[in-house]
This record gives sequence, C-alpha cells and structure tokens, in this order.
Amino acid sequence: AKRVTKPPLDILLCAPRGFCAGVVRAIDAVEKALTLHGAPVYVRHEIVHNKYVVESLKRKGAVFVAELSEVPDTTRPVIFSAHGVPKSVPAEADQRALFAIDATCPLVTKVHREAEVHHKRGRHILLVGHAGHPEVIGTMGQLPPGAITLIETLDDVATLVPPEGVPLAYVTQTTLSVDDTRGIVEALQARFPALIAPHKEDICYATTNRQEAVKRVAPLVDGLLVVGSPNSSNSQRLREVAERAGCPHARLVLRTDEIDWSIFSDIRRLGITAGASAPEVLVEEIIDAFAERYEVRVETVSTADESVFFPLPRELRDQPAPTA
Ligand code: SF4
Repeated sequence: AKRVTKPPLDILLCAPRGFCAGVVRAIDAVEKALTLHGAPVYVRHEIVHNKYVVESLKRKGAVFVAELSEVPDTTRPVIFSAHGVPKSVPAEADQRALFAIDATCPLVTKVHREAEVHHKRGRHILLVGHAGHPEVIGTMGQLPPGAITLIETLDDVATLVPPEGVPLAYVTQTTLSVDDTRGIVEALQARFPALIAPHKEDICYATTNRQEAVKRVAPLVDGLLVVGSPNSSNSQRLREVAERAGCPHARLVLRTDEIDWSIFSDIRRLGITAGASAPEVLVEEIIDAFAERYEVRVETVSTADESVFFPLPRELRDQPAPTA
C-alpha cells in the first residue's frame, strides 16, 4: 500500500490559555450545588460563555434560564453566572425567597464595589465596555439609571457630555482589549485631566495574560485559532489581538467541525489559544483533528504563570462536621 506522507505542521500553543479562576469557580459552583442538592439546579444565564460547558452541565441536571421568573421552585438552588448581575436580580431573589447562589467572579464584584464607592462619593462614572454584554448590564445595574455612562469607542469619548460640576471616575469591563482600552482611557484623560482611575486595573489578570501570549505567538505563525464562543468577549478580543499583531488567518472556533480547512492548506506554523471560558478538552480535540491531516509538532509558548484561585461561594463550601 502507498504510504501517504502528511505535511509537517508546527503548532504553537499559547500559555496561559483557557479557563480562568472565575470560570473554574462558576462551573465548580454548579457541579457542587448538584452534588449537595441534586437536580435540578437553576442557572441564570449561561454560567460561562461556552456551549460545550453549558451542554455538559445540562446533562448533569442544570437548567438554564434567562430570568428568575422562570424558576418555579423556591427550594431549588439558582446560581447567578460569572458575569455578574444587576442589583435587581438578588433583590428579586430575596423578595421571592429563592435559594440564590452568586457565582459572579470576584474580579467582576471588585468593579461593582468600585462603582458603588465612586457613586457614594458623588462622582459620575464612565464604564468602558461593550453594550449588551451581561457584565456591562450587571455593572450598570449596580446603581440607579443615569449614574453610569457607557463608553464603547473613541467617538463616544469625543461626544461625551458629562453632568456639569461633578467629578468623573472610570471603571472598565474585565475582558476588554488591553490596547484599545489604553487608547480610550488616554483620550478620556486628555479631555478630563482630573478623571479618577481604578487603584488597580479592572481588566483582569486572565484577560491580560491571554492577550500577552497571543501577541508573542501571532507574529511567529501563519494562522491562529482561538477556541471559544462568538458571545465570549475575551475570546473575540484574542482573535482581534492576533489579527492586529499581523497574523493573516485569525479565527474563532468552538469545535473542530467549524474549522475551515481550506485556509490551512499552506500553513506551516499554527498558533492555538483558548478563551477564558473554553475547556482544554476542546483544544485537545482541535490538535487531534490537525494531527489527522498533518505531521504535527506541538510546542508551548508561555508568557506568564498563573496561580489565581477563588474559593467557592460560601453556601457551597464544605461545612465542618457537626460536633455532637
Ligand atoms: Fe473573572 Fe477575568 Fe475570568 Fe472574567 S475572565 S471570570 S473577570 S478571571
């Protein structure tokens, strides 16, 4: 039989990639709630923006709802997603005496608290972020309408008419492009020199590190795949970062069946990363698919070590055994 020789392909794996500490905590929260309380466990919104994760939790007994009104039973746990929720959501849960568990990432909660402090001190808040993203809806919803103005673009900075005689402060979404945000913040500071900044960046460590790794790898490869969902903000940003670093084919894919093999016909070096909500098993599945067509050699390019860990929400932590 004729031996088919496969063309060679170097795969450069970006590190860090994939799950961040907030996503691990949110998924663990749903699994722990299922273990402690059985099915069904309700989850408001996709717990993290990944269809594969959502489907596998559904099979274990999680029921995903858009709003709390869809939770029929006050004795079952209902978990709020990692992206955070407007204040009206826990308020509604309290009012209906629902068994609510908040899996909002602590780094999103940090931004919520910052916004509250600014508001208490009489400052008007500018939120740099993307309209419609659940994190932005959650952050805007920490305060009464009008307390926060959303800034999406440099144009928004130029046309902004802030309330008169009120100090200005800004906060940001946690999953933005580091470079774009720097540009927007510089433009804001140029217009409003007294603008109050966060003590520590709101863009989270995971977003920053994943973008940094892509910046290192993108100039070295002919194509780069971001494993992630189209509704995942940080995954979309990773694709943009690769494109801007000059990578000719930067694509977002959820699973192997979405790979457009035609664009890879001439590729010799391929970068792979994964958004913060994409499980490593999907990265492995994609490497396997390439290994069927190419003689692959995999190398990891690491730009940072991560050791961030968040404990589970209090309601789900192991209780010390009762002393009789
Ligand atoms: Fe938290 Fe950052 Fe992960 Fe979002 S991307 S869940 S802010 S660690």
